Amino acid sequence: MHKKKNYRFDTQVIHAGQSPEDWQGATLSPIYQTASHLHPTAENLTQTFAGKRDDHIYMRLTNPTNRVLEEKLAALEGGPGAVVMSSGMAAITNTCMALLRAGDEFVTGNSLFVTTYNLFIKVFSKYGITARLVESTDTEAIEKAINSKTRFVYLETIGNPKMDVPDLEQVASIAHRHGIPLVVDNTLPTPYLLRPLDMGVDVVIHSTTKYFSGHGGSMGGVVIDGGNFTWSQERFPDFKAFIDRKGPLALLDKIWREYHINFGTTQAPLHAYLTMIGLDTLALRMERHLKNAMKVAHYLKERPEVLWVNYPGLEDHPSHGVALKQFGGKGFGGMLTFGLKDQAACFRFINSLQLIYHLANLGDSKTLVIHPYSSQYYAQDEPTRQALSVPDNMIRFSTGIEAVEDICEDIGQALDSL
Ligand SMILES: *Cc1c(COP(=O)(O)O)cnc(C)c1O
Repeated sequence: MHKKKNYRFDTQVIHAGQSPEDWQGATLSPIYQTASHLHPTAENLTQTFAGKRDDHIYMRLTNPTNRVLEEKLAALEGGPGAVVMSSGMAAITNTCMALLRAGDEFVTGNSLFVTTYNLFIKVFSKYGITARLVESTDTEAIEKAINSKTRFVYLETIGNPKMDVPDLEQVASIAHRHGIPLVVDNTLPTPYLLRPLDMGVDVVIHSTTKYFSGHGGSMGGVVIDGGNFTWSQERFPDFKAFIDRKGPLALLDKIWREYHINFGTTQAPLHAYLTMIGLDTLALRMERHLKNAMKVAHYLKERPEVLWVNYPGLEDHPSHGVALKQFGGKGFGGMLTFGLKDQAACFRFINSLQLIYHLANLGDSKTLVIHPYSSQYYAQDEPTRQALSVPDNMIRFSTGIEAVEDICEDIGQALDSL
């Protein structure tokens, strides 16, 4: 087959990882719905366990369908290896656990997805781990927070829901100067808009539940290892066995071997299959998401009921310059937030929508809204909601790929009801 060429991104989303010749000519990967795999000889299985053969053993460890998705996603981010997991949170948890030991610290931007925040602050602290929260776009603060116990820097490439965009090249060079890697959650831009590994980032995580699927019919996460980071003996003595085994993919091996297979965070192959069906149209969908979001942002700006619009595509947005540079002028993402008078106005707006769905998800083909303050951030105290930039008058808006006129008309009629 014709697989060796360096195809462009829009071609890769469809063709990377495809091997119909191994699938009896099928053009979609089969779903290998099997808990375990047969081994021809006892010697064979011993070699597989010793890492000398690459055969599949048991679904909790690997699965052929999942491996196809791993190849596709690694190709899209430009990394040498990936592991898919049961959810985005599984990917975040396992990656951080593999990088951390009791007593360690890491530095993280304060614009975090709420569950990531809970994991970092409320769960990790029980194990003696300190997450130092700083402003994602304040590179000086990031550098100041790094000390001899720091094992990595963690950022969201577009903060959810803060919508700030950190300068990845700057932060990567700071992290590397201190001998630590930069790990990012690239769920919101997707590699269509941003390929962090090209900017010096070391590890990329995604919730594949969102734009990669696009249909809202599957759940999953992935970690992609850039394979370029040098794990020093002084700061990372616990990496030696993994470096000996897997060289540049030491971290991915540590994530997989120590956490993924022990925590049992396996992705069901049906979900990998469904994610791949969505993935085929990623480039086309992103093009429309970006265009629609920009039009919605401008529409909202014109409406007197809307107090503010937070979208990096708007020229007065504090991250506009960095976003323009980093996203190469392609666009600014499909998500935005905006402010109404108060919580009651937000509720009235949501309850008046006719087309747009009110639910907790993003990156779907359908346009989605939520009032984060009273839902996902329901259990957070007031200072935390403020620190995470979640005021009570904020609507989070994930722009879908419907006709933008219909999206704006639905927003318009709901605003008319205020
Ligand atoms: C949804 C989301 C996650 C978590 O992913 P799940 O698949 O829901 O576990 C992590 N980060 C970001 C930015 C997200 O939007």
